[in-house]
Amino acid sequence: MLYEELARCYDRLEGTSSRLEMTSILAEMFQEVPPDELRQVVYLSQGKLHPDYVTEKLGMADKLILRAIVDASRLPEEQVTELWMKEGDLGAAAESLVAQKVQTNLFSQPLTLERVVSNLRGIEAAEGRNSQNTKVKLLTSLLHDASPLEARYLCRTVTGRMRVGAASMTILDALALAFGAKEDRADIERAFNVSSDIGTVAQQLAEGGIEAVRSIEVQVGRPVRSMLAERLPSLEEVLEKLGGACALEYKYDGIRVQAHISPSDVKLYSRRLEDLTSNFPDVVEGLRRSFKGEEAILEGECVPVERESGKLLPFQEVAHRRRKFGMEEAVRDYPVRLFLFDCVKLDGEDLNMRPFPCRREMLASCVEETAGLQLSRMELVDSAAEAEEFFSAALEAGCEGIMAKSVLDNSVYRAGNRGFLWIKYKKDYRSDLGDTFDLVVVGAFAGKGKRKGVYGALLMAVYDPESDVYQTACKLGSGFDDAFLAKLPEMLEPHSAPSPSLRLSTRMEADHWFEPAVLLEVMGAEISLSPVHTAAESSLPEGSGLALRFPRFTGRVRDDKAPEQATTAEELLTMYRGQSSE
Ligand code: AMP
Repeated sequence: MLYEELARCYDRLEGTSSRLEMTSILAEMFQEVPPDELRQVVYLSQGKLHPDYVTEKLGMADKLILRAIVDASRLPEEQVTELWMKEGDLGAAAESLVAQKVQTNLFSQPLTLERVVSNLRGIEAAEGRNSQNTKVKLLTSLLHDASPLEARYLCRTVTGRMRVGAASMTILDALALAFGAKEDRADIERAFNVSSDIGTVAQQLAEGGIEAVRSIEVQVGRPVRSMLAERLPSLEEVLEKLGGACALEYKYDGIRVQAHISPSDVKLYSRRLEDLTSNFPDVVEGLRRSFKGEEAILEGECVPVERESGKLLPFQEVAHRRRKFGMEEAVRDYPVRLFLFDCVKLDGEDLNMRPFPCRREMLASCVEETAGLQLSRMELVDSAAEAEEFFSAALEAGCEGIMAKSVLDNSVYRAGNRGFLWIKYKKDYRSDLGDTFDLVVVGAFAGKGKRKGVYGALLMAVYDPESDVYQTACKLGSGFDDAFLAKLPEMLEPHSAPSPSLRLSTRMEADHWFEPAVLLEVMGAEISLSPVHTAAESSLPEGSGLALRFPRFTGRVRDDKAPEQATTAEELLTMYRGQSSE
């Protein structure tokens, strides 16, 4: 396959914001791809070379890309830099420079997908002293033979800013359209949720049809997309939703960990599917000692604790364990305890379709509790009074609230899904200040007066899984201290974009735009209808959206969550309706 076909598809994708149109453009392309190349095409459509859980990240610093463009175009560096500044995007600069030299370049070889992937792999793998030169050489060689359009997307791919907007859910839609029937969509998504590998799903579907996709199972060593919780504002409603009785657990505030245990290896993944194994060697050791079976996938929350008393500490302490260097000291200075709460696979048996009580029983049967590794505290309740008591005990123990879990026959582990089988109920739902929301930064406004030179406010969005689009919910200007304001530009820079993300619905004009990537926890007092925000717009009268009033940053950056795990438009709508009926 030629890379040009992929570049043309990206170009068409960039020209539309309609999810339906994106789906049909992708589906058309997928049908043309030889099945054995489809896996790579799907990864590349997301700007990657591997499934989400593989740690290696393709990326090149802007200055190295610039060097490659200079080498390939043989133009003076100042001229290339000037064009880059003018276009605001290295991809567009490369495109325009390649267009200028294309007529004189008679000896170029068309770029095959294979060659592009091979050079990109080389760029990703380059390490050590000469790695910068190697990267530049590999990219220059591609740019030398690239058409203007190919040059645009090659540079975008290596910057890590594809901007094409092919999100996983849209790719799954396209796969169903290309190779299956409409009713196969749910099976295709299930396979993705249990494997976290969209490339495998695509290839199996193209080669073996929907039957092959149905046979994709949970596998030790391949993270499962985390099951997520909904929220409700009162314990009465929680109980009613769960059929009058449920299991309540402490909601620990730390970092979620999915442990994959095999006889030879223990691996830990975050809920963003990052490999955390090297950050928690003590947890790995604890699991090795406590686990009594052959192999398993277990889930739990890793919480910082005080060494002497064993008291639970605020989640911030666990951040010290996310560093790259000095792990030995971090393990010594910041001890943690793992509270296990689910078991998705045990000794060859796939448990994700089993009801929660059965999974919990299996969990209890396969581990021996120690000081550093315990089961989450759980109790079965069937009245709001009991729930209230359990909630108070949870807060007393230093937890942020409770998790209510369905115990009905359909209480399966719904990988990758947010639903009412798990409902969170947190202490901040009770404070006068209101609820907390995890919102995505999609834009920023320049500061004035005291905030001159830094951002004055951020444009924040919720996620709408239905349309796979981010929708704005508030302008956030309070709760920031000077130090945080000063470091914001650096934190957001890798995600900056010359125009609003293709996956953003906005009626506001920000001064800076960002691809959805960074999540901040925001406290909001009230939700109201708004003519300028777009949250939940498809469920409201035309021209209205929902807005969070008096938003305030709590100080917590949710770097444990992926942008698609932000508060949803639906959640905001449910709360708005609940609030209006009070
Ligand atoms: P939130 O981050 O507010 O959406 O709440 C969901 C998170 O709570 C999960 O992803 C877990 O990291 C965490 N959590 C803490 N305790 C539990 C528990 N007992 N069961 C499930 N999740 C828990």
